[in-house]
Amino acid sequence: MFKKNLVLDASAFIGGYVPEKECNFTVSEITDEVKDLKSLMIMERAIKEGNLIIDQPDEEDVLKVESSIKNSGDNLRLSNPDKKILALALSIKKRKGNVNVITDDYSIQNALKILGIPFRSILTPGISEVYNWKKICRGCKKKFSENYLEDECDICGSPIHKKRFKSSKMKKKS
Ligand SMILES: [Zn+2]
Repeated sequence: MFKKNLVLDASAFIGGYVPEKECNFTVSEITDEVKDLKSLMIMERAIKEGNLIIDQPDEEDVLKVESSIKNSGDNLRLSNPDKKILALALSIKKRKGNVNVITDDYSIQNALKILGIPFRSILTPGISEVYNWKKICRGCKKKFSENYLEDECDICGSPIHKKRFKSSKMKKKS
C-alpha cells in the first residue's frame, strides 16, 4: 500500500493526532505553538521514532503562499508558522506527488482551499471535548485506528463506518 504524505499543523497535535504509519511532516516553528505537555510528548516521541519529519518548504512555495493569500482578497489571519505549513504542503505535494493537511484551524483550511490542497480536521467544530473515532468496516468488520484516513477498507473495499465516542480528555485552550 502506498504511503500518504501528511502535513500537520499545531492544531493536529493539540487535537490529539498521533503520527504513526503515514509519512508525517511539519515545520520546526510548530514546536513553539504546541504548549501542553501531552501533545509535546507525543510530538517528541514521533520525531524520535522517525514518524514525524521536521522539514522546510522551498522558497518558491513560500512566495507562492504569500501571493495566493494576497490575491484572494480574504482577510486571512495567518501566523508565520501557518504560512510555513501551507508552503510545506505545496513543497511535499511537489516532491512526493500527494499531500493531505491535518488541521483544525479555519484560516489554514481556507488558505488550503485557495491553494487546492486537501485537508482533514481532527475535531468537530464547536465541540469542547476531545472525541475519539472508532472506525469499523461495514463489510468485514475490520477495526481501523482513528488515524486511518481512507474511506474504504483495505481488505474488502467496503465503506468504513465512523463512530464517535467521547473521551474524558478536555480540549486544551491555546
Ligand atoms: Zn472490510
